[in-house]
Amino acid sequence: MPRIAYVNGFYVPHGEARVHIEDRGYQFADGIYEVCLVIDGRYWDLEGHLARMDRSLKALGIDAPMDRPSLEVVMRELLIRNRLKNALVYIQTTRGVALRNHAFPGVAVPALVMTAKRFNLDQSDAQAEKGVRVITTPDIRWGRVDIKSVSLLPNVLAKQAAAEVGASEAWLVRDGKVTEGSSSNAWIVDADGALVTHPKSHEILGGITRETAIACAEELQIRVCERAFTVEEAQNATEAFITSATNLVTPVIEIDGVKIGAGAPGPVAKRLRAAYKDRARRAR
Ligand code: PMP
Repeated sequence: MPRIAYVNGFYVPHGEARVHIEDRGYQFADGIYEVCLVIDGRYWDLEGHLARMDRSLKALGIDAPMDRPSLEVVMRELLIRNRLKNALVYIQTTRGVALRNHAFPGVAVPALVMTAKRFNLDQSDAQAEKGVRVITTPDIRWGRVDIKSVSLLPNVLAKQAAAEVGASEAWLVRDGKVTEGSSSNAWIVDADGALVTHPKSHEILGGITRETAIACAEELQIRVCERAFTVEEAQNATEAFITSATNLVTPVIEIDGVKIGAGAPGPVAKRLRAAYKDRARRAR
C-alpha cells in the first residue's frame, strides 16, 4: 500500500508529493511545523499541539491554512488513507509561493503539507527500558526558538554530532546552562527528588510533552522546579531524561560519557513515562 501525503488540498502518493521551488519554506525556511503522536488511532495531546501551531503561525504572521475543524478532518483522513493506528503525523505550513524576495509577498496563500509515518510504541518502550546517551554542544540557535519554525539547521548539526559518537540526542548549552535537546526538552532529577527543567522562555521550545509531564508530576506529587541547570549539575544528578512527542519520556543514562546515577534508567523517569502514557490514553 503506498504512503499517502496531503499537499495543498490533494492526497497524493508520498513519492509523487511535490512543492513549488519558490515556496518560501524551501527558499527561506519561512514556515512552521508540528509533530503529533497517534496511538491506537487517537491523537495524543492534540489540543496542545494545535494551540502551539496557532501560536507559531501568529508569531510569524502566517495565516492559518485552514480552520481547525477542516484541519482535524485532514489529520484523520491521512491516518485512514495510510491505514495507520500508531503514527507520527507531521504538519507543515509555509508562507506560500512567491517570487524570491526576503520581505513578505503582498498576497500569500499559505502552503500546507502533511505526512504520516508508522510509530512503534513497543520499540519506543524498549529504548526507554535501556535509556539513551546524550552529548552536549553549544546552543547556536536564534533568539526565538519558542516558535516551532522549520529553520532547524543548528538542531540538525547538533543531532548529527550526537549521531557521530553513537549518542541519541544533543543537549544544547547557552551561557553554561542546558536549554534543551536538539529535538526534545531536557530534565534532571535533583538530590531531593524534584524534577528540574529549563523554564519556558524564548530560549526553549515549550514542549507539549513537557507540559503534560509537569501535570503528571503534579498528580504523582513530585515537585517540579522550572530553572536552568548546568552540565555538571546534570552529570551529578540522580536521574536525567528527555521529553518529546516522539520520545514520550525517555531516560538518559549518560551525558558526555559520564554515567548518570547507576548508569541505568531511574525510578522517577520510569514512573513519569508510565503516568504520561496513562494520562495521554485518558485524554482526548
Ligand atoms: N524542543 C525541541 C527543539 C523540539 O524540536 C521538540 C520536538 N518537537 C521538543 C522540544 C519537544 O516538544 P514536544 O514535546 O511538543 O514534542
